[in-house]
Amino acid sequence: MKKILEAYGFGKLQDLLTLERQLARRGISFADLRGFVEGEIRRLEEEKKQRVGFQKSCPACNGPMVLFPVNTTRRNQTGDESTAVWTCARCGEEIWETDTIAEIHKRMREEARNGLRRIWGFAPARNSV
Ligand SMILES: [Zn+2]
Repeated sequence: MKKILEAYGFGKLQDLLTLERQLARRGISFADLRGFVEGEIRRLEEEKKQRVGFQKSCPACNGPMVLFPVNTTRRNQTGDESTAVWTCARCGEEIWETDTIAEIHKRMREEARNGLRRIWGFAPARNSV
């Protein structure tokens, strides 16, 4: 046991015991905890995939730009009204957004629909893009 626990450090083990006590008090098992944490990990990975799905081309180099939300946590504060930044994976060009992520996604879907309308002459149903 000592050998296994050595890898975690004393602080983490104390946190674990505190968590175990709090869960037990509420009748929550360790299996429930595992299920919840694994569910959250799946949910976050799904969100990440959707975020990566929203890409656009860089106006400077035509490289892929990826959208990163800002001002959503203590760690990504920018000190202004920005909501997200498009960052070019190739040249580092940045385009700052002040629309909400939901508005940006709606705009991207609309742009995708308009693109298909140009190519096909009609757009597919609203929910299929
Ligand atoms: Zn670029």
